[in-house]
Amino acid sequence: MHFHIITIFPGLFDSYLSDSIMKKAIDSGYIEFSFYNPRDITKNKHKKVDDIPYGGGPGMVMTVQPIIDTWKMITKKTIKEKVPFLFSRCFKTILLSPGEKKFTTEYAKMSAKEYTDIIFICGRYEGIDSRVEQITGADVISIGDYVLTGGELAAMVMIDSISRQINGVLGNKNSLEEERVSSHKMYTRPAELKYNGKLYSVPDILLNGNHKEIDNWRRKH
Ligand code: SAH
Repeated sequence: MHFHIITIFPGLFDSYLSDSIMKKAIDSGYIEFSFYNPRDITKNKHKKVDDIPYGGGPGMVMTVQPIIDTWKMITKKTIKEKVPFLFSRCFKTILLSPGEKKFTTEYAKMSAKEYTDIIFICGRYEGIDSRVEQITGADVISIGDYVLTGGELAAMVMIDSISRQINGVLGNKNSLEEERVSSHKMYTRPAELKYNGKLYSVPDILLNGNHKEIDNWRRKH
């Protein structure tokens, strides 16, 4: 999977990608990243990538030209590249935005299966001129009902969740939800834990070795 990220702050991704599972996945070639900064491609003589909003209001809006020119460059270049054993690459453009279609594990699974390339367009300021969505045909996706200062963190959340759905990234396939009965309630050793004089025990059912009963318990939780 090749993640292409259009952002005016590519440096924000550095720390998350340089450690743990993301780093391993990059080093092993399961995922690949390219960053594109609209500031490098803007035709504005002051290198501006934003302008005042039509209709008034506070803040600035990201302009169409630098984003669309970047997007065109990525799609043109990537289409030409050959992938061994694949007939063609399969693209998706995702525009991060609060309050639109919600990101889910289902969406992550579908993306890992269907696409070879995902282009993320990260907004800043008050957002992106809506014509970018019209021109690119992007999926407009929100990671939750709250407003962030930019799309970078949202893109990173989606990339993390999509990457763990790619075969091989987690190493142990059994860690994936569909391979076992999943539960949000997990325990590890010790079975009994004393804290501030109170005893905290692991539910007996998890200790009895009966996998059928354990699976039923996990389904309930
Ligand atoms: N004016 C907008 C807020 C813009 S926030 C409004 O009132 O709704 C700036 C940028 O942060 C957005 O363009 C988007 O790319 C990103 N962003 C903020 N919250 C987000 C969320 N919950 N999910 C995905 N992207 C988000």
